Amino acid sequence: MEEKRILPLKPFNSNCIKFILAFPDYYEYGLPNLAIQVLYRKLYKIRDVLPDRYYLYTDDSKEKDKILEYKIPLKEADIVGFSIPYEGVILNFIKILDICGIPYKASQRQENDPIIVCGGPVVNCNPLPIAPFGDIFILGEGEELIKDLVNLYKNHKKNGYFNKKNFLNCVSQLRGCYVPAVHGFHGYGLIKQTKPIDINQFPSHSIFISKNTIYGEETFSIELRRGCNQRCRFCYMGTRLRPARTLKESTFKDLVDIGLRYSRIIKLFYEGLDPEYVEQCLEYIRGKGGKVRIGSQRLDKLSERIIKIIGEAGQRKLTVAPETTERLRGVIGKQKIRNKDILKIVEISSNCGIPDFGLYFIIGLPFETIRDIDEIADFIMEVREKMNSLGNINGYLEIGLNMLYPKPWTPFQYACTILPNEAEGRLQYLISKLSKGGYKVVVSTDVVDEKVERKKESVYKNLIKIETTIGTL
Ligand code: SF4
Repeated sequence: MEEKRILPLKPFNSNCIKFILAFPDYYEYGLPNLAIQVLYRKLYKIRDVLPDRYYLYTDDSKEKDKILEYKIPLKEADIVGFSIPYEGVILNFIKILDICGIPYKASQRQENDPIIVCGGPVVNCNPLPIAPFGDIFILGEGEELIKDLVNLYKNHKKNGYFNKKNFLNCVSQLRGCYVPAVHGFHGYGLIKQTKPIDINQFPSHSIFISKNTIYGEETFSIELRRGCNQRCRFCYMGTRLRPARTLKESTFKDLVDIGLRYSRIIKLFYEGLDPEYVEQCLEYIRGKGGKVRIGSQRLDKLSERIIKIIGEAGQRKLTVAPETTERLRGVIGKQKIRNKDILKIVEISSNCGIPDFGLYFIIGLPFETIRDIDEIADFIMEVREKMNSLGNINGYLEIGLNMLYPKPWTPFQYACTILPNEAEGRLQYLISKLSKGGYKVVVSTDVVDEKVERKKESVYKNLIKIETTIGTL
């Protein structure tokens, strides 16, 4: 596995606090995660702390319990910090503890077992389902808090006698820390989130760069904006990650200049930014000889110029999120997005030389009926037909389709989740409708297999790929 690093590896010193950042999914998915990278940078700067990473082992891995760089067992870490970005990886988090010989229930861990800290969007929304497995849960952004946590740990270790109970008692006093052993199950509701950080003071960007990721190319990522000011009713970002904060032009330019020393490709992450500012940022990267990439986009914030720039830079795919049918978009707060506008974007992106198109859908939304699944299938076929009619028969159409996990703090918090077998039934119905429409449907739970499939065929006019976690639960 080849990887470029912006920070050199700290020399190993067994007396340092070993703080391991763990991602409960494979390296391909985990490396691009900026939360791990920004926290690594924070830890790296603290004296007497040795940061390292751990990613989910693969079946053929010979060292399933070893951390990435220092190759010591995860069990020997002082603190293991898990970032849990989506619900689908919760079981991996528990599997990692188990395979590494760390009792997965917090109540069964001893004084010499690592302290397990959990953070990330799933935790910030609702740590209660995984409360029995972690010692500390970070509610909110962890960049500032991590230093206080480490200092507290250092102080408790200083005398050579570490008492976990005393340590956790002190941690429970820190804003943003939910400690189930101290606060209990019901105490969670009283814990305030950490204060939102100033992203210009400590911007989030790549420090590890590798082409062995889902991007398939060496990419330097920059978080151009954190949070979102929209309030889509199902979404955690619009309610729990506020206010939205944007990088200043000068900070952004400095980061691009650093990034271009390591990679020609700069990927920007942002939600709901004005297209004019995005265009300015993309032009800056282009002017410096870089190639730009952007993630999935809100339709009303996507200009023709943005699509043209990313097309010229060689981005292969543009993804938008219709989420559901036009009727249900009114229910989720995205009523402004019309199918005809999406078809227009398909046309512009195909004409700008972007072959692949992605659509994200959620099933199991409140008030969804079988008619909605029919309409989703019809619209998917309409997009495929549009691509074909534009001569874009080599373009891949990828559908991300997952079920709704109603999130606390959002207006949908009391909505019912459909059962896994119901979700599976709706998925099968959708597939059969697409198949009857004359399309070959490839269903995948792993985006990494894409390259393998691509070798088999090069004309995709009759192919629709669905990426989903439905059926894996
Ligand atoms: S779905 Fe997108 S636009 Fe809507 S609140 Fe979430 S991040 Fe913002």
